[in-house]
Amino acid sequence: MSKLRFDVVQEAFKKKAKDVTAPNERQSAYFGELVFNRDKMRKYLDSKVFNALVDCIDNGHPLDLSTADKVAGGMKEWALEHGVTHITHWFQPLTELTAEKHDSMLEYDGKGGVIEAFNGKSLIQQEPDASSFPSGGIRATFEARGYTAWDPTSPVFIQGDTLCIPTVFISYTGEALDYKTPLKKSLKAVSEAALPICRLFNPDVKKVYSYLGWEQEYFLVDEDLYAARPDLMLTGRTLVGHASSKNQQLDDHYFAAIPSRVAAFMRELEIEGCKLGIPLKTRHNEVAPNQFEFASIYGECNLSNDQNQMIMNTMNTVARKHGFVVLLHEKPFAGINGSGKHNNWSLGTDTGTQLLAPGKDALGNLQFVTFFVNVLAAVQRHNALLKASIASATNEHRLGANEAPPAIVSAFLGRTMTEVLRKLVELPSGTPIEIAGKTGASVGLVEIPEIFLDNTDRNRTSPFAFTGNRFEFRAVGSSSNCAGAMIALSAAVAQQLNLFKGDLDRELATGKPLEIAVMDTLKPIIRSVIDVVCFDGNGYSDEWQREAARRGLDTERSAPEIIKAYTTPESVELFTSLGIMTRKELEARNEVKWEMYSKKIQIEARVLGRMAINHIIPAALAYQNALLKNISLMKENFPESYKEKASVAIKLSDKISGWVTELESLVGNMVEARKKANAITDEYEKAVAYHKIAESLSTIRTPIDQLEEVVDNDTWPLPKYRELLFIN
Ligand code: ADP
Ligand code: MG
Repeated sequence: MSKLRFDVVQEAFKKKAKDVTAPNERQSAYFGELVFNRDKMRKYLDSKVFNALVDCIDNGHPLDLSTADKVAGGMKEWALEHGVTHITHWFQPLTELTAEKHDSMLEYDGKGGVIEAFNGKSLIQQEPDASSFPSGGIRATFEARGYTAWDPTSPVFIQGDTLCIPTVFISYTGEALDYKTPLKKSLKAVSEAALPICRLFNPDVKKVYSYLGWEQEYFLVDEDLYAARPDLMLTGRTLVGHASSKNQQLDDHYFAAIPSRVAAFMRELEIEGCKLGIPLKTRHNEVAPNQFEFASIYGECNLSNDQNQMIMNTMNTVARKHGFVVLLHEKPFAGINGSGKHNNWSLGTDTGTQLLAPGKDALGNLQFVTFFVNVLAAVQRHNALLKASIASATNEHRLGANEAPPAIVSAFLGRTMTEVLRKLVELPSGTPIEIAGKTGASVGLVEIPEIFLDNTDRNRTSPFAFTGNRFEFRAVGSSSNCAGAMIALSAAVAQQLNLFKGDLDRELATGKPLEIAVMDTLKPIIRSVIDVVCFDGNGYSDEWQREAARRGLDTERSAPEIIKAYTTPESVELFTSLGIMTRKELEARNEVKWEMYSKKIQIEARVLGRMAINHIIPAALAYQNALLKNISLMKENFPESYKEKASVAIKLSDKISGWVTELESLVGNMVEARKKANAITDEYEKAVAYHKIAESLSTIRTPIDQLEEVVDNDTWPLPKYRELLFIN
């Protein structure tokens, strides 16, 4: 065993970067090559069908079946040219992974031969036998067949030999069983709530869009080392492992030169991403050793989220070609940074105005402040829900663990905007306020620079930060579907905008000019958000814990409890009034979340127990045997003074006995606790029980990590942190 680890490490270290063959064209030439985008639609559909499809995508007008047949025909022709043999409806169930069931295009032609077939019906709807997907009990087994329905706003794409059709996933009784359905509804809600407000500022606005730009953090581990770690293979994180002597303390990995094997992986991923129309823009080394990041150019939220899901899948396949495994887990290694997925979010109009960026003139700035303040109010009202939207068994390792996110959702504004808000509330009511812009006549009392000097005045401890033209929701976990966070945020903002519009209309009805009515409506909101949700200090400090509780912000840290925020009366009212989710759907989703939570911890607990008994204790005892042999040889040769001469061996052997005994007993207790937890039928109660077990896992880890420090390096059976983190 010891040899094995040594050999694996040696081989992993010797691996060299693989050559990547890039297409013989510039990136822009093959961007979107594997996506049925508008260019392809124009080429493969006649103009009538093209117009109908564009109308369906842009304005939601349904396609009739004969048009859908023609769309499918065009897609088929395009797909066959790319060697496609299979079709799949691609969806995003509540597992937080994507799902696909491939059907060959092959059909009998009825004349003794076969043909490739694909029609409108199979484009629009399918019924995968999806009874095994989590549904929180929405589908009893007898009506287990949910169905998938095409989302024409997400372009169809080719992956390998398969044409992938992005779809929503719904139960027969109409409940959403996925992320895409409520995401689309929440985006619609925020768009509809923002539109009438925008039109007060610019009557030409016809549509408001939500934008998402994700930054995806991840770790890479050599695949041979990965295969030697049962914990990584089965849980995505290391359940044991002493800290390496060197980890991230020198900050020498962050933004450092990208290692050549990793660079080759990134290059190939970018090529694949580019073909899939995913505009990967930024790549760099992250803070922790072997941690990296990709960020794409932001885009319409639903599409950008699909792209994130696509790239997460593609990362795994491409990494294997380079002898790596991608770890998307939020906390694969103890003691060093975990991985998040910053969700950069903003709103914009079809007239090109960014609603969360300073305007070009006074009116534009007033509009900016309006949206800015309402977002803060939404985050304030639903801070517990927003935390629930990012809570999971895996992200729980980051929550409140001195690493973004803290377990309190507050907002960071930066110096400029904090001062702007303070000045605005100080002005006497009825003052015709014009917020100065860079251009245009301005008698501004409050100035907003067109570009923020403190744009990069980053507060890494804030979960929700304003960064000049957008908010960055940093608490989202690296492995999660961005939609969870985007649904909660969009819903909260939509509700707040509706409330604001109601109040504003009352002010306008008194005959006040727009500028005064807006400010009068905003002022009480500004006062409240400054006092409550806005926080520019250290989000990790103990004082903040106390202060936040005093301010009435949610400070709960345990994921099973946090998740409850989805079904509070305020949340149910939020989602149902906007038509995003019903109470039944919310309750079912929580069941799923608790169930997933328990199952993940259950797997971790089992793996850790087995590693302790089958890997660690045998290695420790083997080494102890060597020590005992040393002691008895000493005794044989130096009967008088062996205790002194064998003192180190005796000491080490005693330590091993101590740790091994403790370990065995801790594992025994954990197994008992697990048995009790498994007997609980209520999913919430079970998750609470498993939360306690999750805490005990780190206690079990302690004797193991101590043993790693004592046991002969040759005998240790698992690749160590120094090997997992520094070989690339
Ligand atoms: P940093 O690490 O400094 O936060 P990055 O360049 O890594 O910045 O990522 C910034 C992300 O924010 C990118 O995905 C970018 O496309 C996105 N972004 C920029 N402007 C907006 C915007 N107005 N709305 C949404 N996302 C945006
Ligand atoms: Mg960022």
